[in-house]
Amino acid sequence: MPRSIVAGNWKMNTTLETAARLAAGVAAGAGSVGGVELILCPPFVSLAAVRDAVSGSRVEVGAQNMHHEGSGAFTGEVSAEMLAGLCQYVILGHSERRQLFGETDESVNLKVRAALLAGLRPIVCVGETLEQREAGDAADVVEGQVLAGLTDVTDISDLVVAYEPVWAIGTGRAATPEIAQEIMGGAILDALRDLFGDAGEEVPLLYGGSVNAGNAGAFAEQANIHGGLVGGASLQADQFLEVAAAVVEAKG
Ligand code: PEP
Repeated sequence: MPRSIVAGNWKMNTTLETAARLAAGVAAGAGSVGGVELILCPPFVSLAAVRDAVSGSRVEVGAQNMHHEGSGAFTGEVSAEMLAGLCQYVILGHSERRQLFGETDESVNLKVRAALLAGLRPIVCVGETLEQREAGDAADVVEGQVLAGLTDVTDISDLVVAYEPVWAIGTGRAATPEIAQEIMGGAILDALRDLFGDAGEEVPLLYGGSVNAGNAGAFAEQANIHGGLVGGASLQADQFLEVAAAVVEAKG
């Protein structure tokens, strides 16, 4: 059974000061929530402050994006090598990056491979839009995103996949646990088995999309949901820790 993980995606929120305070709050409470990996993903500029704030605790740190090249004339970009000294994880292919910044399965794949080479653990996000779901294409879309995003990836021990239906992100309209399980135990697991054989079953799968302390347990009770990628509810330390506690309880 893959390990349980709860990761907080802070998006473009917090300042240097509030990020450090939020991280310290999570670190202070982390000891009381055992049995789940806790990851905080602040904006780039706060990575060092968050790393320092959680140092000595078991809380880990992740970035929200990166460029696939190691260095060079890419103004405003940040490479995996730069992140490797600051954090352990990196979120890749979030739907906001796909929709607002033109990321494709191909660019996500370049990033995933570069992240792994640099020793970062990618949290690869996939998920269908409302139009795709209503057209009956959700499973095909998600399966295609996993297959394309993970092409030529060989070492999957550091890989995490997050299913985030676009229509559930930041809308307060979470998927049902059954919908999430259907995609995660179906399309996503099928794609991982296609790519990696039985080893694909060891990749932790996170549900994301309006997760909160009230619904996290019901998602984590599903067989192929091993935790959550949390946006809004990760901006309050107590709420984030309550989500983690609910996942721990559900996973027994
Ligand atoms: C996210 O941004 O990854 C996310 C799931 O956001 P929210 O929890 O706010 O829907």
